[in-house]
Amino acid sequence: MNSGDVLIYDTTLRDGTQGEQINFSAEEKVRIAQRLDEMGFHYIEGGWPGSNPKDARFFELAKEVPFKYARLTAFGSTTKPQTEAAACPHIAALLQAETPSVAIFGKTWDLHIFDILNVSLEENLAMIRNSVEYLKAKGKEVIFDAEHFFDGFKDNPAYARRVLETALSAGADMIVLCDTNGGTMPHNLTTIVHEVISYIPPHLLGIHAHNDCGLAVANSLAAVHAGVRMVHGTINGYGERCGNADLVSIIGNLHLKMNRKCLPEASIRELTHLSNYVSDIANIPPLNSRPFVGRSAFTHKGGVHVDAVLKNPAAYEHINPELVGNHERVLVSDLSGKSNIAYKARELGIDLGTEMSINKKIVQQIKMMEDQGYHFDSAEGSLSVLMKKIKGEFKEPFVLESFQVFNAKTGDNPPTTQASIKISVGGEEELTAAEGNGPVNALDNALRKALTKFYPHIKDMHLSDYKVRILEGCEGTAAKVRVLIDSTDGEDIWSTIGVSTNIIEASWQALVDSIQYKLSKDEEHAKSKA
Ligand SMILES: [Zn+2]
Repeated sequence: MNSGDVLIYDTTLRDGTQGEQINFSAEEKVRIAQRLDEMGFHYIEGGWPGSNPKDARFFELAKEVPFKYARLTAFGSTTKPQTEAAACPHIAALLQAETPSVAIFGKTWDLHIFDILNVSLEENLAMIRNSVEYLKAKGKEVIFDAEHFFDGFKDNPAYARRVLETALSAGADMIVLCDTNGGTMPHNLTTIVHEVISYIPPHLLGIHAHNDCGLAVANSLAAVHAGVRMVHGTINGYGERCGNADLVSIIGNLHLKMNRKCLPEASIRELTHLSNYVSDIANIPPLNSRPFVGRSAFTHKGGVHVDAVLKNPAAYEHINPELVGNHERVLVSDLSGKSNIAYKARELGIDLGTEMSINKKIVQQIKMMEDQGYHFDSAEGSLSVLMKKIKGEFKEPFVLESFQVFNAKTGDNPPTTQASIKISVGGEEELTAAEGNGPVNALDNALRKALTKFYPHIKDMHLSDYKVRILEGCEGTAAKVRVLIDSTDGEDIWSTIGVSTNIIEASWQALVDSIQYKLSKDEEHAKSKA
């Protein structure tokens, strides 16, 4: 690490878990901590061992984990009023965590000292001094979080300064300026940080910003620009209320916009994975619009934009998405022009040739179908089949003669469903029946049973997800349903769509597309092997 590097201090496992819906088990925390360590994060704040048994358990588990880069940090408060640090149970819990670093927060805003803590200003300073000195004497690196620093500074700048100087003279290794309520504006923050730098060396300063005004990332970067060396934040900005500063955005901006090193080059390309990894463990769907790493961050929909991006990606992309492990996407929608289709076809491995009339036909067909409620943004399986059909290359694998679905229910017994189907393949007819736990399942079973005779590898595939959405009907018309099916054969996953006023018909369309996609994919695979 270079002395000019910005130090990244992750508090996903502590401040991040203050967020509504965020819950990690001790084991999950260990996994996240290991991932952050592999990526070269400098500090990982693992929890508040004095506040709950889960965090204490995390630190027990973490004792067995060899961290390569990161300094594991335990978080807590200064000693309680009228209590020597040596006798304070909070401080004892910090030491029991056996981490190389500890972070303690102290009150900086006189409003909190009088109204919340109920001690005098001098006593607050004595608590800070005593706590820092005691932890230093125990050989710890001490990070002092000046809670509500910016609000304190606005009310009583002389006292806020005394708090920082007390912690520093007691031996604190880092002084972190906290915008705990997240209400500070970047221009005010910059002015205040400049003032602090006149009495505290900037390489000993950190910033801890909350996002209540949507400014946590901006404030953190402004502080770094003003000279601060350490940045606190969480992955995906998880945290209490509106969250903490999002380290994913901060790291992306530091590296790619401000030319400031923080993590190794290879870790920058891992940012998208990291963000999704933590979302998965938190069991919170990833935010599509998350800067740098979201699924939509480099996605183009409008035809004019797509046309431009095909000529030069810089036209509508602020960076090359691959720098952060993301990629460009183009949506096919009713806004789409011929450029989207050309891009999408290439992505799906379909050669549309140079003949513009095919391209035009596809655009017209999609627009017509979208008007009826189809939506190809995620139904790439159906889109692929549709393109091949219009291109005239598609050989229908079977012809439906008829199907019937029977649902029966007697008394309180569970319903039973049977489907029978008659298809023909190359003039040969096949009639089968099957049961299922519902009409779509029974129909799927019957169809695949009938087809297996002709296409044995069809048994490799199965439905992995089935979603139904009611589309608002126009006045006087029946509401339509849109069915989206995900299928898999263990190698690929593909989505197909059907739309109808009848749910069985909509499901049938999606089922047929799914099977046609699979058969056409296998046929191409066999051809490319031959
Ligand atoms: Zn915080």
